[in-house]
Amino acid sequence: MNVLIINAGSSSLKYQLFDMKTETVIAKGQCERIGIDGHLKHSPLVGGKPVYEEDIDLPTHSEAIAAVLEKLASAEYGVVSDLNEIGAVGHRVLHGGQKFSESVLIDDAVISAIEDNVPLGPLHNPANLMGIRACQKVMPGVKQVAVFDTAFHQTMPEKAYIYAIPYEYYTKYNVRRYGFHGTSHRYVSGEAIKMLGGKKNSRIITCHLGNGSSIAAILDGKCVDTTMGLTPLEGLPMGTRSGSIDPAIIEFVANHEGLSREEIFDILNKKSGVLGISGVSSDFRDIEGAAHEGNHRAALSLDVFRYNVAKYIGSYFAVLGGADAIVFTAGLGENSAELRESVANQLSGFGVKIDAEKNKTRGKQIDISTPDSSVKVFIIPTNEELVIARDTKSIVEK
Ligand code: ADP
Repeated sequence: MNVLIINAGSSSLKYQLFDMKTETVIAKGQCERIGIDGHLKHSPLVGGKPVYEEDIDLPTHSEAIAAVLEKLASAEYGVVSDLNEIGAVGHRVLHGGQKFSESVLIDDAVISAIEDNVPLGPLHNPANLMGIRACQKVMPGVKQVAVFDTAFHQTMPEKAYIYAIPYEYYTKYNVRRYGFHGTSHRYVSGEAIKMLGGKKNSRIITCHLGNGSSIAAILDGKCVDTTMGLTPLEGLPMGTRSGSIDPAIIEFVANHEGLSREEIFDILNKKSGVLGISGVSSDFRDIEGAAHEGNHRAALSLDVFRYNVAKYIGSYFAVLGGADAIVFTAGLGENSAELRESVANQLSGFGVKIDAEKNKTRGKQIDISTPDSSVKVFIIPTNEELVIARDTKSIVEK
């Protein structure tokens, strides 16, 4: 079966087509500027066909999906001979709220539940719904599955997800910790358990470190705590997000700078994190470069980020009663040897030791701990799309 994976944003739509016999991606691409003018880049990965890239009219997500399907089956750029060869569609959906602890077949009730969660994911859920509705319109009869970023974290105990604010905000508005990057934490923790030889009651700390970053504590394959909260703003400092700060700063800065609530939250989401501290960039490669050239604020922003990564990992040793493995994944976690070295050094008191040679590895699943390290340290490249494709296949085949 071929499974089409869709990640719909408000003006963009990324896709990958998987051949599930081999679990390989046979085509991928991206629509951009939907509703503005429109641009499609489509890359066939089998059959030696050329890449297609053009500005085309994409007034809505429906035209975008139609354009993607047309390319997937076209003589010149296609990878299937007939659209019937696409057996199912899997959608990445940001917020499943408390309703979804696993992936589900999409029907009217699921759509209205995703709608109910729009207040919790005001930017993403409406866009995800546009992707779902567009597929329903353009590919009627093809089964669709929703895979939620929050679902894996639904196993957290109450004490980990309840905030210490008046309880009625939880009962009235569902204000609680949800956590994100769940598909990634689930995938890499599953791989880590395999690398631990299927150990029972394994204690794993997964670090998804990219532009957006979160860490999760995983006991026997189930999430028991994670750093992101009601929204992806909580926890670690990130590329442009502040992560956790003293909430009093919001009023303090708003008063001094004469800013509205919206302006403050825009700053916390888009102008903070390592960008805010360094003033250089939100991209860690640029910041590492500037730090090497002696830029103090760039070096400081890296210090703050790495220190916080180690601090949260340390707190998850307490949550889990120790750890069998720490996993590094996503853009930074998979690629930055400097980051892993610095975090491991900060954790040396827990007996964490990594091998300097093995730490140079990039983009490969590997154990980089030394034989005498008390905790395994793994690099595991994440593969959220594969998880979405596998869930989609197994749900539609039920
Ligand atoms: P997103 O959250 O957007 O999916 P990614 O997981 O792709 O992000 O991570 C992007 C981040 O990873 C960027 O800040 C980038 O600088 C960083 N990164 C990628 N490669 C390297 C590298 N070799 N060294 C340091 N940082 C890297």
